[in-house]
Amino acid sequence: MKNYIGLIGLAVMGQNLALNIARNGFSVSVYNRTPERTKEFIEKRVKEEKIDPYYDLKSFVESLEKPRKIILMVKAGQPVDEMIQELLPYLEPGDLIIDGGNSYFRDTSRRIRELKDKGILYLGMGVSGGEYGALHGPSLMPGGTKEAYKLVEEMLLKIAAKTEDGPCCTYVGDDSAGHFVKMVHNGIEYAIMELIAEIYDIMRKVLNMPSEEIGKVFESWNNGELNSFLMEISYKIMRVKDEETGKPLVELILDKAEQKGTGKWTAQTALDLGIPTPTLNMAVEARIISHFKDLRVELSKTLPVSKESISLNREEILKDLEKALLFGVFISFSQGLWLIDEASKVLNYNIDLSEVLRIWKGGCIIRAKILNFLREIIKENPQNANLLASEKTVNFLKDKIESVKKISDIGKRSGISLLCLNSALDYYFALATENLPANLIQAQRDFFGAHTYERIDKEGIFHTEWEKLE
Ligand code: NDP
Repeated sequence: MKNYIGLIGLAVMGQNLALNIARNGFSVSVYNRTPERTKEFIEKRVKEEKIDPYYDLKSFVESLEKPRKIILMVKAGQPVDEMIQELLPYLEPGDLIIDGGNSYFRDTSRRIRELKDKGILYLGMGVSGGEYGALHGPSLMPGGTKEAYKLVEEMLLKIAAKTEDGPCCTYVGDDSAGHFVKMVHNGIEYAIMELIAEIYDIMRKVLNMPSEEIGKVFESWNNGELNSFLMEISYKIMRVKDEETGKPLVELILDKAEQKGTGKWTAQTALDLGIPTPTLNMAVEARIISHFKDLRVELSKTLPVSKESISLNREEILKDLEKALLFGVFISFSQGLWLIDEASKVLNYNIDLSEVLRIWKGGCIIRAKILNFLREIIKENPQNANLLASEKTVNFLKDKIESVKKISDIGKRSGISLLCLNSALDYYFALATENLPANLIQAQRDFFGAHTYERIDKEGIFHTEWEKLE
């Protein structure tokens, strides 16, 4: 009896996904470059599941029913290309490779093209939810041809997380649509994490709240509109004590945030496509700045940052912080969805934004109650990709603006950097402004580079010899 599917790459994600697939009744062959990892996995984690180990690629491929379906869960980048090259001699036209890693979407497009010539089907599939999600039900974002998706649809729908709106998996769109959506998912994830961190900073430095107390407030927020996975883990983090010192563990963690690239790709791609995503971009900048710890320690001794003492009504500020965070989360989604929509048009992905929001509702890191509301807005008008042109949005943001302004002001008066929150507010102001000062930019460009400009009172393209008229 041949196995239904093969999985290559038995690090944390691959192991858990293999177990999830097998527990849902699909037999799995597994392979890992380093055989010890395969052995350890089989010995330690596989019990009654139908998972068979293979130690060479030829017998691994031969163990699969045709057309073969193989999931790659290896490190993104070169390793994916290497694995494809190693597999090719054993594959036949009609076989399917699914890349479940965090591959760069342009790499996925290239691989789809290259493999199409050989008759090999390819899906680029975003997988979100970390190791827990992979085991118990992730959010799955597969993209590629419909034909390729159909081959594994039944299995994907079974292994995905479930919500009242169905399994958190859908055919996202053509070509590299799946990896594109996963990339932006991560960009939004970076922004929401940074926003929570900025709010936390105000709570600890301005309101002088101990971690445990912050945790209690986060927990209460998680019971309301801010209900989300990231809010939930944040309140849980606040409770954890270091075993040795008894202090809250979060307070002992070095303030240097790491990154693997998906947030940066989101920002780079947004710049390429000409879609404004300042809040997502600032979240990447914040991680970069955090890395200059030694420099920050030095400069903190010399650079003047006047810290005013502010008289505060704690309960009021906490309400403002909650609203400010909601505002920031909404704006982060607004920017991410706009970017996805533009890519969908430019790269012909044909993505349904309402479906994207639906499959983000469970399993993934950015799952949140607010997604229901965002879906309502998109369903009302699918052209309103950035969510801003809706009465629902106006009513939602109306009572939050003053809170964001208040928190932004507190940040400035206390010398606290709020890169994401301030950028969300400025993005909002900019889009809500009829007359931006870009007229001056155009004049400057024309002054030094004869780049020309348009006028508000006449049709046409104009150039001025500025110095002659001065
Ligand atoms: P890693 O990203 O740490 O990758 C390790 C796996 O890749 C190992 O199986 C390793 O094999 C294999 N590998 C590395 N280089 C090669 C190569 N040149 N040829 C063949 N195999 C190679 O593992 P994760 O489980 O963390 O992630 C897998 C994928 O899923 C990545 O793309 C990641 O970005 C993505 N992802 C991860 C999430 C997470 O929470 N960790 C969440 C969502 C997606 P060996 O044992 O031989 O070294």
